[in-house]
This record gives sequence, C-alpha cells and structure tokens, in this order.
Amino acid sequence: MALYTSNELKLYNSLSGTKETFTPILEGNVGMYVCGPTVYSNVHLGNCRTFISFDMIYRYLKHLGYKVRYVRNITDAGHLTDDADQGEDKISKKARLEKLEPMEIVQQYTLDFHKVLNQFNNLPPNIEPTATGHIVEQIEIIKTIIDNGYAYERNGSVYFNVSKFNESHNYGILSGRKLEDMISNTRALDSQDEKDNPQDFALWKNASPSHIMRWPSPWGDGFPGWHLECTVMSSKYLGETFDIHGGGMDLKFPHHECEIAQGEAAHGHSPVNYWLHTNMLTLNGQKMSKSTGNSILPEELFTGDNDFMEKAFSPSVVRFFMMQAHYRSVLDFSNDAILAAEKGYLRLTEAIKTANDLKTSATSSVDIASWMERCYAAMNDDFNTPILIAELFEGAKMVNSINDGTATITTTDKELLINTLTVFFKDILGLQMKNEGTQSDNGKPLDAAMQLIIDLRTQARANKDWNTSDQIRDQLAAAGIQLKDGADGTSYTVKN
Ligand code: AMP
Ligand code: ZN
Repeated sequence: MALYTSNELKLYNSLSGTKETFTPILEGNVGMYVCGPTVYSNVHLGNCRTFISFDMIYRYLKHLGYKVRYVRNITDAGHLTDDADQGEDKISKKARLEKLEPMEIVQQYTLDFHKVLNQFNNLPPNIEPTATGHIVEQIEIIKTIIDNGYAYERNGSVYFNVSKFNESHNYGILSGRKLEDMISNTRALDSQDEKDNPQDFALWKNASPSHIMRWPSPWGDGFPGWHLECTVMSSKYLGETFDIHGGGMDLKFPHHECEIAQGEAAHGHSPVNYWLHTNMLTLNGQKMSKSTGNSILPEELFTGDNDFMEKAFSPSVVRFFMMQAHYRSVLDFSNDAILAAEKGYLRLTEAIKTANDLKTSATSSVDIASWMERCYAAMNDDFNTPILIAELFEGAKMVNSINDGTATITTTDKELLINTLTVFFKDILGLQMKNEGTQSDNGKPLDAAMQLIIDLRTQARANKDWNTSDQIRDQLAAAGIQLKDGADGTSYTVKN
C-alpha cells in the first residue's frame, strides 16, 4: 500500500501563508514544476541549495508512493539583465562578450548544471523543457491574453495590462504586495517608455536589428518575456492547474506573481494549488549571488581549490550541510558550519555501517517502531529535514548502545532499524556513504585504486622515503589527480 494513504503530508503554501494538508488534484499523482536555471554562467552553491531542496521533496513524494511528474525548465532566452523588462538578454550578452553563438553558451552551462547536480546525487526531472523550444506556444498564449483583453501591443512589443487585470483579479496575491503601493513607490514613466504603466510587464519584446536571439511573430521579430515561458511550459506538461510550483524566494515577485496573472488571464483560473519557496543560502550574511560576486562554486569545495576553506568537502557532506537546515530558513555558509556538518555526516555513516554488524537478542529494549514514526512525522511536517536528522542521530545513539551492550535488539527490529536509517539517509535525503559513486559515474574502482596508492605513499612517508612519496604525488598531479594532505588523512581530487 502506498504510504501517502496512511500519512498526512503537510506543506507550507506561500499562497496562503499556512501549512496545509497536501491533496493532489488526481489521487496518487503529483505534478510539480520548478523554475530552472538561466544558463549563462556556472551554477553557484546558492542555486544548488534550491535544486537540492526540490530534489529532496521529489524523492520524498516518490517514496510516499506518488507517481510524480517533475518538470524543471532551462531558461535559454528571454531573461534580461535587470530581471525585468530592461537590459540585454543574459545569454546574448555572454555570447557577445565571449564571441560565441548563444546556443554554445546554453550548451556549455546546461552541461555544467547537469554535471554539478549529478555530483550532488540529484535525480533528473522527468521533463526538462527549454524556452527556445516553446516559442510557438508562447506566441499562441500571448494571442489568447490579448483576445481576453489583458494585454496590448506597442511598437512590436506586447505588455500585460496589470491595472486592467487587477480590476477583476488580485495582482499581489502571492507576494502580498498591493498595486496601489507599487504605483506610489515607482517613478513616473519617462516619455520614451512605451508601456501604459510601469507595473505592466513584457510578454513579447521587439528585437532591435542587433539582437541575436530573435523569432518572427505576429508583432514582428522579437523574443518572449521571461515570466511567460514558465506559464507555457508548466501548463503544457502539467495542465492549466497543477499541484506544486517551486523556486527560490527571490522569484516570488515579480516572476511567480506574473505567472499567476498570466495563467488567470489566459485560462481563467489560478495555475497552481501549492506554491513552495526555498530560502536563500548566504555567504558572509549576504545572499549568495553571481552578480555581486558573493558566491562559491561547488567545484571549488569539492577540489579544495579555494581561499576560504581549510580542506576539500565531498558533495554528500555539502548536501548534508544543506539538509541540516529547513528549506524555508536562511542558511549561512561558513568554514565552521561545513566542518560541523562533516562530523555529523561521518557519525551517521559510521552508525549505518555498525548497524549491519549488531548482535541480536530475544527481546528489544529499544522502541524502533515509534522512532521510525517520528522520522516520518518530521518529513510530513513540511519536509522538516533538520528534525529528521536529529531523529537519525537518535537512531545512531541506539546503534551505539546496542553495540556496547547497554541495549538489546531483536532480528526483526534490527532489520527495521537498518532499513529506516538507509531509506531516510540515502533514498530521501539523497546522501551517499563515503566513497560511493553518484547515480551515473563509476567512481568506485578509482576510489579503491586511489586508496591503495595513498596507503603506499603514507607508508613511504612513514619510512622517510621522500623520493617515492614525492614521485607518487607529482606523477598523479601530472595525470590530473591532486592529493591533499589534511588533519584526518589524505584525500584526492580529479581535475576535469
Ligand atoms: P537563476 O538561474 O538566477 O534564475 O536561479 C536559479 C534558481 O536558484 C532560482 O530558483 C533562484 O531562486 C535560486 N537561487 C538563486 N540564488 C540563490 C541563493 N543564494 N540561495 C538559494 N537559492 C538561490
Ligand atoms: Zn520560472
């Protein structure tokens, strides 16, 4: 029997500002859309936090027995440098600076995005559509919005008429903003501005002849607005109303507010039942962000090739660090925090290994069934991973008490204990044991061979055979494998 029938999952809906019981539109099925990256640069650790959080949510929904269709787009056109209607397309700008085709930029950073998420052991979404692959659908929906009276054309561009929409709907329903306040807080339009009101947003932008990314449309050559692609791709693959829409909190306004307005204007009803927003990863107390330079790339952590950390950290340790915070809380990245996470991660992996070797008795002095219930209760309470991890530490404590003879466990309970620990650790939190390969790589044989070489070098150093130890290090470096000596032994990284 599917677990969702016996468990009550509650999730925090940003639309109502409360925790609600999750009831999908179609029993047993979940449609989930998450805004994907704009592929004009390498994803930083902040972006990864959002994608890892939704991976955990996707994994838990699947674990409960739901059939999930997870759609996450790739933004490869339409996202302008000011995140609104002004500036250059982020991808065109990068292509111009690097003297490359825009699609070369898109390809390079899409590959990087996939590689990094795979390193973090994220599961791929079921559909990963691109904005440029859905221009025809975007043009069609613009025509509908114009026909329904919520958009107007000016000089080859089409704008969404926010005040017209707000007469019969609530623009601000998600972000809690009021249109009157927005109007009184914005500057007046200058004379060259073609919009009727500053709050109106572009559905289609006229492209100047120098603009490289352009498509023909009924309004002339141009390109679609950024907000529109998500309305089009989510409704195409999940329906006009679907269950869950996710993204970082910074996308709530204007991006998601505009998606609601577009969906209602085009289809006559609200597009999403549950809006989920992840909070920001910060560095030095400031939002991690590419544009301000306040960011870390995952690769810099995995290789240890950076100025701010003492050593390298594995993707699972970084993922564990993220899972120790609730997805709706701000999380600050620091040397101390990641070192503490590493300790916690190792404590749990050790416990899982020890659990397999526990001796069993005729009776149990530990209550495994109610402990397992508490693990589910944590996840059912809006995916509360920090509470879940605290429960997993309780599980580790039980393992240690049984191991040192101060507690006992039956064979059946031992199986339940091992199963619960591994299911939550691996399948739901998406963590891997030390030296485990990711979904699609075959790192295990290399790890074993490297461990052998590292042991030989340690032996050589113990024998003060510096020639051999230096030779091992230098020859590995020449082959692209870097050794890093740390307080708790030697680790290696492979340069790509
Ligand atoms: P972008 O490529 O800028 O559209 O961002 C991709 C995703 O990463 C969006 O869902 C953002 O909300 C999210 N994001 C950006 N910066 C951070 C951050 N510092 N912490 C968490 N999520 C972030
Ligand atoms: Zn989006």
